[in-house]
Amino acid sequence: MSVTESSSASISHPLKSNATGASPQLAPASLPMPLVIALLAVCFGCAVLVLQWDNVVQLFSSTCSEHFGEYLSAKRCGSAVNKIHIYAIAFALLPLIMIAERLIPADPDQPQFSPGMLVDLLWFATFPLLIILLRTPLEDGLKAIFGEGFHPLEGLPVVAQFLIVILASDFIAWASHWVRHHVPMFWEFHKIHHSQTQLNYFTSLRLHPGDQIVNTLLRFLPFTLLGLEIGLPIFLVWSTILRIYEMFVHSNLRTNLGWLRYLIVTPQSHRIHHSEREEHAGLNLGNFFSIWDFLFRTQCLDFKIYPKTHCGDPECPTGTARTVGEALRVLANEMIYPFRVLARRWRASS
Ligand SMILES: [Zn+2]
Ligand SMILES: [Zn+2]
Repeated sequence: MSVTESSSASISHPLKSNATGASPQLAPASLPMPLVIALLAVCFGCAVLVLQWDNVVQLFSSTCSEHFGEYLSAKRCGSAVNKIHIYAIAFALLPLIMIAERLIPADPDQPQFSPGMLVDLLWFATFPLLIILLRTPLEDGLKAIFGEGFHPLEGLPVVAQFLIVILASDFIAWASHWVRHHVPMFWEFHKIHHSQTQLNYFTSLRLHPGDQIVNTLLRFLPFTLLGLEIGLPIFLVWSTILRIYEMFVHSNLRTNLGWLRYLIVTPQSHRIHHSEREEHAGLNLGNFFSIWDFLFRTQCLDFKIYPKTHCGDPECPTGTARTVGEALRVLANEMIYPFRVLARRWRASS
């Protein structure tokens, strides 16, 4: 049985022990002082960013065209700034998640600054690089394909328009996730996301570029129904809110969010999705809403288990490292791993 098997019998729940009058049993966790200080500095920075927001907007607006290109800067700079704002909030929320992880950990043996987190942080750092590299071709491609004059939902109330495109985008994300689990070529890329054995706040951005680029473009398609001019910034903001939510569901947290689990993805349901056990393969594919999994019978109906996580491929780099050098090597290995497997498969079949 997995160490994180959650029958309340096998693991003492810190909050439960508190309720019975005994002192709470916090999970073992390592919190090296330099990291605590660095974390407090990040939080302080985020708080300043949020409090001084008007000045920050001016600062970013003046440098926006430099970072986001001429096309986006003309009309969409504000949403790009919002994106940065929401990232700041994501970092500011980190201490709350850390406290929650100590009180209700899904895996009590996992340290908060685990070897797995170091590699995920590097993946996190590669994400903005990807945006900068792809910015111009993406802008040109979107302009060429969708133009600016397509507004089929224009007559509907704004709330209805947003709801339609967000639901449609979330369904496409569910379907694309299904494909990335069931089509071997796509699975080799998506497998990198599943190779983490220590799920943490930053695992949501452990995504191979070959895995996320197509998925992001597909998720964007419904937003073109709002017209590119409105659809693109709304998509950027929605994607960023999603990123924060995904950081929450990848955290080492023991919660299924009660009745909300029937509507949205939870840390428990997403842990099942990452499970190393064969019987959980291809389950809980939801992106934000869990309704698609209930509708298409891909929802695991056991809401109490917290299994160990891995993609199940012993050759796939697990993504844990103890030094930055080691983490860089793991990152490089993970980046080339899908290509190596596909080349080997192609050679074997020819
Ligand atoms: Zn997946
Ligand atoms: Zn995940």
